[in-house]
Amino acid sequence: MIPEEEIEKFKGMLPEYLYIQHNITNIKKHFQCLNPNHTDKHPSMSYSSQYKICKCFACGVRYDIYDLVELDYDIKNFKDKHNKLLEIFNELNKITPLINIKDDEYTIKNFSKYFNYCYSNISHSNYLANRGIKEDIITKYKIGFDDNRKLIIFPLNENSYFARSTTSNEKYKSKGISYLFNEDLIKYSDKNSIIYVTESIIDSLSLESILPTIKTIALNGTTNINRLINLSKEYDYKGIFILSLDNDYYGKLYQDKLKKELDDIGIISYPNNLINTIEDGKYKDINETLINNKEKLIYNVNFFDKQYHNILDKINVERGDDYELG
Ligand SMILES: [Zn+2]
Repeated sequence: MIPEEEIEKFKGMLPEYLYIQHNITNIKKHFQCLNPNHTDKHPSMSYSSQYKICKCFACGVRYDIYDLVELDYDIKNFKDKHNKLLEIFNELNKITPLINIKDDEYTIKNFSKYFNYCYSNISHSNYLANRGIKEDIITKYKIGFDDNRKLIIFPLNENSYFARSTTSNEKYKSKGISYLFNEDLIKYSDKNSIIYVTESIIDSLSLESILPTIKTIALNGTTNINRLINLSKEYDYKGIFILSLDNDYYGKLYQDKLKKELDDIGIISYPNNLINTIEDGKYKDINETLINNKEKLIYNVNFFDKQYHNILDKINVERGDDYELG
C-alpha cells in the first residue's frame, strides 16, 4: 500500500510535472489541451490548485498527475504510475535549483519510431534534393519526411527534433530544450577541432554536402548562442569555431555577439568568409549560395577550410611553445 499522504504529495506536484514534461511554464494561463484525442486549436486547458487537476473546458477531460503519467507513458497500473513519478522527481532532486535544469531528456518522449517512419518516407519529398543536399548526408542524419504534416524532420537526438514545412515558411521544434544540431561535437573536442557554426540545419547540410569531412553545428535560431556558449564552457571546448551565420542584419548582429562572448571565455573564433566574397555578398545564407552559385561556394569552402586548418596548426604550435616555456 502506498501511503495516502505520498499520493497527495504527488498530486500537489502537478505544476512541476506540467513544467518538466510538457514545458508549460505558466499555469495561470490556459494551455493546449493534453487529451491526445482533442485537437485543441486554442488553449482550452487550465489548472485548478483547489482540485489539483487540469481540466479542458472544450472536451471536458479532467486529469490529475496520475492520469497524465498514464497518457504520457502508457502505464495503466497505479503502483507503476506511482513508481514512475518517484523516478521522475528523484532524478530532479539531484539537480538543484529546479530553475537551472539543463538537460531533461528523460522527461521527454522518445521519437525513435517516429524518426524511422519519417525517414522511410523521405523519398516522398524533393525539398532537400532541390536545395542541393546530398543523399548520403540525408542518410547520415536520418532526415525524414512527415507525409501528413508535410514537414521535413531533422532529428536532434532521440528526444527532440527540428522541423520545417515544405509548403510554407513555418519552422517547428519539439517541446522542451532547444538543442543544437550536432551539439555532441562540443563534448568530444580536441585541439584540432574546427567547427563551423551555422544558423540553420540546412546550411550545415549544405556545407557537408560540399565537403563531407567538415564539422558543423547549427544553432536552430540565433537566440541559441547561449547554449553554444554554455556547452563550450561546460565541456571545455578545445578547438576553434568558424562563425557562419546568415549574411543579414540579425545574422551579423548575433555573430558579433557570439564572437565577443567566445573571446571572453578564451575560445578562438573567426567570422567566415565563405559567402560574403561571392557576388558581393548578395546571398543571404549558405544554402541560398549553394543553390545559386554552387561552383564558387565549392571553391570557397575548400579554399577557406584549408586556411582555417593552417591557422589552427600555427595556433597549436604557439600554444605548444608556450606550454614548454611555461
Ligand atoms: Zn480538451
